[in-house]
Amino acid sequence: MSEPTPKPDTSQINEWRRKIEIANHNNIFGHCRTCGYQWVDSSVDKTCPQCSSNDVERISCWQFPDE
Ligand SMILES: [Zn+2]
Repeated sequence: MSEPTPKPDTSQINEWRRKIEIANHNNIFGHCRTCGYQWVDSSVDKTCPQCSSNDVERISCWQFPDE
């Protein structure tokens, strides 16, 4: 009795979306417009760790094309 486990397409799509979500949460690229400091972290707080400025640009890393 060896039945192949059925893998519906929806589960793959869900996993793919979950991975993007994780990447989005863990690889936030931060750029401070005040002092020009750049960093990557998982927090979404909009404060520069260098000068505590609130004028910060937040970009999700997975949006960058990997070429
Ligand atoms: Zn700064």
